[in-house]
This record gives sequence, structure tokens and C-alpha cells, in this order.
Amino acid sequence: RNDIFLQQQEHRESNARSYPRRIPIAIEEAEGIFVKDADGKKYYDCLAGAGTLALGHNHPVVIEAIEQVIRDKRPLHTLDLTTPIKEDFVTELFDSLPGDFAKRAKIQFCGPTGGDAIEAAVKLCKTATGRQSILSFQGGYHGSTHGTMALSGNLGPKEKVRGLMPDVHFLPYPYTYRCPFGVGGEESQRISSQYIENLLDDPESGVLPPAAMILEIVQGEGGSIPAPIEWLKEMRRITEERGIPLIIDEVQTGIGRTGKLFAFEHAGITPDVLVLSKAIGGSLPLSVVVYDKKLDQWSPGAHIGTFRGNQMAMAAGMASLRYIKENNLAAHAEKMGDLFVSKLASIQQKYPEIGEIRGRGLMIGAEIVNPKGKKANSGSHPAHPSLASAIQRECFNRGLILEVGGRHGSVVRFLPPLIITEDQVREITDIFTQAIEAAAV
Ligand code: PMP
Repeated sequence: RNDIFLQQQEHRESNARSYPRRIPIAIEEAEGIFVKDADGKKYYDCLAGAGTLALGHNHPVVIEAIEQVIRDKRPLHTLDLTTPIKEDFVTELFDSLPGDFAKRAKIQFCGPTGGDAIEAAVKLCKTATGRQSILSFQGGYHGSTHGTMALSGNLGPKEKVRGLMPDVHFLPYPYTYRCPFGVGGEESQRISSQYIENLLDDPESGVLPPAAMILEIVQGEGGSIPAPIEWLKEMRRITEERGIPLIIDEVQTGIGRTGKLFAFEHAGITPDVLVLSKAIGGSLPLSVVVYDKKLDQWSPGAHIGTFRGNQMAMAAGMASLRYIKENNLAAHAEKMGDLFVSKLASIQQKYPEIGEIRGRGLMIGAEIVNPKGKKANSGSHPAHPSLASAIQRECFNRGLILEVGGRHGSVVRFLPPLIITEDQVREITDIFTQAIEAAAV
């Protein structure tokens, strides 16, 4: 049956379909970290909706929240009208914001994808500042709409789409393994922030004055690349000193994934604009922008959309957020992430095809390289996307679903649900070892 579903899909679906090309599964059932295909074969799901499923599939608290909406005959659709569920959701979210951010914060419901919320964030900052250009980062990913594609620092998907939003300036992200300045480690962070400061202060650079800077605390699609803490503090200082609103895209990092409820907490900084989606809806579609009220200068109706009030998503999201906090799952994610990284690092000792293991919490990447290729100045071997795909395939054949990403398509990415156990980390890393053994030959 699995094959029949796959053939039908290939036959009827758009050429732009993506995940099914690499992950040939028809998922019929799902629970926790596992999914089952239409033939009854079980898989570990370390893609988990690209980080959406913080509590895994069909967690009882999420199911209960959804069922309660139905039992209590709550409205399923309300546009963005006021409801008690919405009020409870906002209260839970604002109670979760660190420091005094909640006191200064406003929220805009978006609809309902991460991409739409990024669009809103950019419009908000453009309106408030009256400026036009946006600072973004090489390798960043912010979505697939025209606007968000323009902000994403990866040429591949946008190469054939003409007329994207102009005036986006790409800055170097501190991707220390493949440092754009040919040096590694701390030196690369220092050069990156000096370069950015210099660019912003040069009246002839053409980037002035920017309406916003947008960044991910850990680049997700870009290849699970955590930005160093000191560099993040520098970005906050540089933007603050120049009155540039800082948009932090926590669509993938948010709600516990990196070991803190919000990834910016690692650096002790606060964004002017925080973008949340994926896990905020507890598996269902929801996205919001939370921002400093001094930016709240747009007019009524400046960002609209039919599906901004998904009551089930708010109920599921609130239940999920509460469960994550009550059970300290962010700290658990950090612990499991450390175990993952140490297991993967010992596998790396044996396989020179693993160029780097990196991550923060449960956002982990294994950079797959050609160890026989010529090293770059920063010490990295060339990316090996075909080997990364082969490893992904071998993992899949052994019952493990993983994502492959990164600018060069050479990073095997682990994004398991936050509820993962130690035994599961061990089993998953064992499967990964077998897969690399099979693929690297
Ligand atoms: N920003 C980041 C950091 C993301 O990872 C994603 C999705 N992978 C998006 C934005 C876009 O979200 P969506 O796919 O829901 O539009």
C-alpha cells in the first residue's frame, strides 16, 4: 500500500513537492517520536514537522485540548475576533516571555505560517521606521513567499524567480566551520561583527538606513548552525546603537527546542520583534509576531488574513506550551542534545566523512564532507551532498527519518521531538552509525 500511495502522489502532485522525494513514506499512524507507514513499518521521526512537533505526534495533552474545543462547542473559525481561548493563549505566551519583554510587548496573529509572520514583521518595521532596506544573513531561511524568499540567503530556491523584494543586504553569518573569511573559531565571529559595523557606518555602502535586521539564533534550514553567544550580543549592541529594529526569527528555534524556551535567552538579549510559528501551535497551524510596542505604528488592517484565529491551534499551542514549561522540557532538550552531540562526536572519530558535529539543544547537524577533497583556508573539507543523501537513505531504510539541509545540501539534521528519551538517542545514533558505515563505503 505504501508504494501505491507514493506512486499516486508522484503522478498527481506538483513538481515542486519536496520532502516526499527524499522520504518515500505514506504515513498512516503516528505517536510520540514514531510514525508508521501504510504497510505497518515503524520509523523514528527526527524530522518531526521540521521542528513543529515539540511533544511528538498526538501527545495526550494536545489531543485533550483539541477534543475540549469540540466538546465545549467552541467556534472553530473566528477570523481574528476575540475569544476566551485567544485570551488564555496570549496570557500563557506573555507569561513565558523572559525579563520585562511582556510588559512592553504587543502581539499580532498571522496566518498561519511562519512565512506570513515574517512578512508581517518586516512590514511592521518598515512602517515604524519609514525605511526600506533589510539586513539579512548568508545561509538564513525565512520562508517561501516572495518576500521571505528574498530575505533568505540561499540562492537555490529563488534563482528562477524574478522580481523579488529588492534592498535586502546579506551579511556574513558566523558559520565558523565554513568561515567566509577563511579563518575559523572566535576570529571569524570577530571579523563578522567588525565587517557588519563597518558596512553600517559607511555612508556609501548603500545599506543605510535599514528598516530591520533579521536573524536566526541557530540557522535551521541553513544547516543547524548555532551563532556564538558573543556574536549575538554584538548584533544586539550594533542594532541598538544604530536604532535598527532586530527581528529574531524563532520559527524553528522557539518553544524549548534549543534548551531554552526562546533561543535568544541563551545570549541574554531581547529582540524588538520575535517571530514564532511551528511549535507554538502544538502541531496545528499558527504563527504570531510579538514585538515592542514602540513599533506599533501600523494602521488597523495593515496585516490581515483569513486564518489568523485558529482556535484549535491556540488551544493545542497553549496546552503544549504549558506542558513544556511544567515538565521543564527545554532543560531536557538541552540534556538530550548534549548526549546526541557526544554520541555523534564519537562516531565522527571513526568517520572522516563527518566534518563537524554541532548544535544547540535538539537542533543538531552533522556536516558531511569529502575528506579527500582539498581543505579550504578555514580548515573545512568540501561539502559532500550526495553522501549526505545516501546517509539519509540508509537511515530511512533502517527506520529513521532525518532531514538533509544546509546551503550545500550536505548537513544531516536531527530535529526530534523534545520528549525523546536517552535510550532513543542511543538507538537513533546507532542507526546513524550503521547508515554511515553502509553509505561511506
Ligand atoms: N523561518 C524559519 C527559521 C524556518 O525554519 C521556517 C520554516 N522552515 C520559516 C521561517 C517558514 O515557515 P513556514 O514554512 O511555516 O512558512
